[in-house]
Amino acid sequence: MHVRLLNFIGGQWSEPVNGQYHNDYNPATGEVLVEVPRSSREDANRAVAAAKEAFQSWRLVPAPKRGEILFRVGQLLMERKSELAKKMTQEMGKVLLEAEGDVQEGIDMAFYMAGEGRRSFGYTTPSELPNKFAMAVRDPIGVAAIITPWNFPMAIPTWKIFPALVAGNTVVFKPASETPQLAYELVKILEEAGVPAGVVNLVFGSGSEVGETLISHPDVALISFTGSNETGRHVAQVAGSQLKRVSLELGGKNAIIVLDDADLDLAIDGIIWSAFGTTGQRCTACSRLIVQEGIYDVLRERLKDRIAKLSLGSGLDSKTDVGPLINRQAVEKVHKYVQIGQDEGAHLEIGGDVPHDSGLSAGNFYLPTLFTDVTIEMRIAQEEIFGPVLSMIKVKTLEEAIQVNNKVTYGLSSSIFTRNVNAAFQAIRDLATGIVYINAGTIGAEIHLPFGGTRGTGNGHREAGTAALDFFSEWKAVYVDYSGKLQRAQIDD
Ligand code: NAP
Repeated sequence: MHVRLLNFIGGQWSEPVNGQYHNDYNPATGEVLVEVPRSSREDANRAVAAAKEAFQSWRLVPAPKRGEILFRVGQLLMERKSELAKKMTQEMGKVLLEAEGDVQEGIDMAFYMAGEGRRSFGYTTPSELPNKFAMAVRDPIGVAAIITPWNFPMAIPTWKIFPALVAGNTVVFKPASETPQLAYELVKILEEAGVPAGVVNLVFGSGSEVGETLISHPDVALISFTGSNETGRHVAQVAGSQLKRVSLELGGKNAIIVLDDADLDLAIDGIIWSAFGTTGQRCTACSRLIVQEGIYDVLRERLKDRIAKLSLGSGLDSKTDVGPLINRQAVEKVHKYVQIGQDEGAHLEIGGDVPHDSGLSAGNFYLPTLFTDVTIEMRIAQEEIFGPVLSMIKVKTLEEAIQVNNKVTYGLSSSIFTRNVNAAFQAIRDLATGIVYINAGTIGAEIHLPFGGTRGTGNGHREAGTAALDFFSEWKAVYVDYSGKLQRAQIDD
């Protein structure tokens, strides 16, 4: 029998009430790693009740003290960085270097949010009446349901849980079923750092059972969700009917624009890293390459050469460039899109299949793939594939490139390679995405800037930076009248 993970409810590590478990697999080898609770509604309800009770005391803990606990969390994450990264690679496949980056995002967020314990600034402003003081302060909200995907199993939970906690909320965390181990390790660290019982609760289980219970629970005040558009829309609908506050971080169809005057060596490095890092399974992965016609042919040939040299394998092997996809369904989905692309008339330049290398047959591998002759209305240029598939689109001008970039429903990240400062600033102004990079790929967000997308990528909230506090707290306006008499706003002078 394999190691069994447990839920963490009200400060106790506990078995699921129904006693059911499922297996967690290594996507590179197919081996079983651990057994994970397949919890039910009952466990989720218990977790919400524990978080609700703990809120009454946690909201009164001074924010600097809450921040000090997060500081300790950051230290523990630092100490365990390499062990956590290795677990992540085994559990979801990304290469070790990227897994270390994922943990580092958590460390950065812990220290940043620890500091917010001593800032969390409100503001004072003059009152319109004499002898009256006016200020706005941030208030905690209540129980936050944190629902996360598998592709950044440390970074994304920390981006949500740490600001939730420093702002004075309590948490019920439902991680993706594909990545339970990192969630387990994170919550163990939170416990070890001194988070009081009930303040953070962890419930493993399916989206349809545990997730549904949380999003519709009357005692959950906030939902922070990252995942697919399909699930996100559903979460928003259910939560909307109860007027819950919901933050949605959803899919992307991110593009890199390469103009004729670009530094091609730099652009190619940025494209390879953005399109094939994490096997194309980043929300900010580049899946469209919008190329000005003067360098289209040369860029295509050079990219093909580079893609052919990418080495597939276990992310634990330092020679591996591209790890496996998360599961078999993901391989099937990517392959289906490759067929759709060919049926639509795009030209398959390289890849487009599973590797025929017997050493890789037990894992969920797919060859890095490049399509050319892609036009903007094709499904492979519009829909999120979430795999190592890049589509090249030819354009004549910067204006056309920007139009093509903006002509998708998503709006997460975009990038442009150019040496022309005027073109760069025009792109900054006109690219309709929440994140814009100049002379860098579509990935590489830093935790102290707002993170999120426009249009179909979300519902307007931002994670990270102080923007995260805007979601996890609400404003309270406070008026202190020290005149000793009734003063009527808008009426008395
Ligand atoms: P997903 O299938 O939507 O799952 C996300 C989370 O929602 C999982 O924990 C899932 O649980 C849960 N869930 C499923 N059904 C639910 C329901 N009815 N009610 C409540 N929760 C439910 O997404 P994914 O495949 O894990 O992640 C990939 C997607 O995330 C991609 O579209 C990617 O672009 C997006 N993403 C966006 C960002 C961003 O910041 N914009 C960042 C990373 C990823 P189970 O695991 O148990 O199904």
